Amino acid sequence: MNLEDLPIRDDLRGMKAYGAPQLDVAVRLNTNENPYPPSERLLDDLALTIRREAAELNRYPDRDAIELREELAAYLGHGLGRERVWAANGSNEVLQQILQAFGGPGRTAMGFEPSYAMHPLITTGTNTTWVRASREADFSLDPAGAVAAIKEHDPDIVFLTSPNNPTGTAVPIETIEAVIEAARGMVVIDEAYFEFARTGTPSALTLLGRHPRLIVTRTMSKAFAMAGTRLGYLAAHPAVIEALLLVRLPYHLSTVTQATARTALRHREDLLKDVQRLREERDATVGWLRGRGLEVADSDANFVMFGRFPDRRKIWQGLLDQGVLIREVGPPEWLRVSIGTKDEMSAFRQAMENVL
Ligand SMILES: *Cc1c(COP(=O)(O)O)cnc(C)c1O
Repeated sequence: MNLEDLPIRDDLRGMKAYGAPQLDVAVRLNTNENPYPPSERLLDDLALTIRREAAELNRYPDRDAIELREELAAYLGHGLGRERVWAANGSNEVLQQILQAFGGPGRTAMGFEPSYAMHPLITTGTNTTWVRASREADFSLDPAGAVAAIKEHDPDIVFLTSPNNPTGTAVPIETIEAVIEAARGMVVIDEAYFEFARTGTPSALTLLGRHPRLIVTRTMSKAFAMAGTRLGYLAAHPAVIEALLLVRLPYHLSTVTQATARTALRHREDLLKDVQRLREERDATVGWLRGRGLEVADSDANFVMFGRFPDRRKIWQGLLDQGVLIREVGPPEWLRVSIGTKDEMSAFRQAMENVL
């Protein structure tokens, strides 16, 4: 029996599951993971913490993750408290809950492409209609164009990714505010890469006080080097959090997840030191690629999009043949490389020299 033979929902027919290849390759620079594994100190702390918490694994976890949300709020700053912060299993689950509460049949969600492929996928998965608007040729977002697209389609939810994935560049805060003012519905700013942004880039968190329909999402998957933990979170008006409580599954965040995330937050000074190393490595990678005469999008993230290659598959395969896995994603002639350790980036440069 095949998938097509099942009585699957009509709107899911013919769709493909999300799938960046998980290949066993020496240098993996394809899913924007943080290359630095947890420190020994963090691992020791984690082992003790889990040992202690596990004594109560016969009980359900704190359903509302009170302490974790309090600590995430303290990390975010901006005067936030736990009543304005929500957490779930990865920011993908956070996004799904937003769509469950504010999207659904007969409703629309809009994004400006090229952007994060999961936004349309989660939108469709929740029976919401995806409306795609476009970025400019240089991948920036023209405020007047964005406002016009919102006025034309009147979406229930607008997604803006800043810094954007896969292009890497942050959206100016004035553009974000113009989008919020034009939109009737909820506006979600996906700040998965915010910690990597170039110095002086303001967060959409600065707009929360003025805009009750604004939601800012973050994740521990990238800057915090905790992709395996699955912890995403958001900041929004307390009424938005109440709406999300209506759709979340009870006890969605396990005791182990909550304890792991809280441990990572205690070690944030160490973890964010690695972020600084990655930002420097990123800037060096942008410079190196430009020095080779390639086009490179400005990056505020832990990855760089570069081109253009009439046959990008050939470059991608050429790198893979040398044990370097990057990502074939985004506009047709471009490729994306995640920033790895110094050694990994030197392997990437060497492999690039060879394929070019
Ligand atoms: C990686 C990424 C996320 C993070 O997803 P998690 O579910 O938290 O791992 C969210 N948004 C964007 C744009 C991303 O690239």
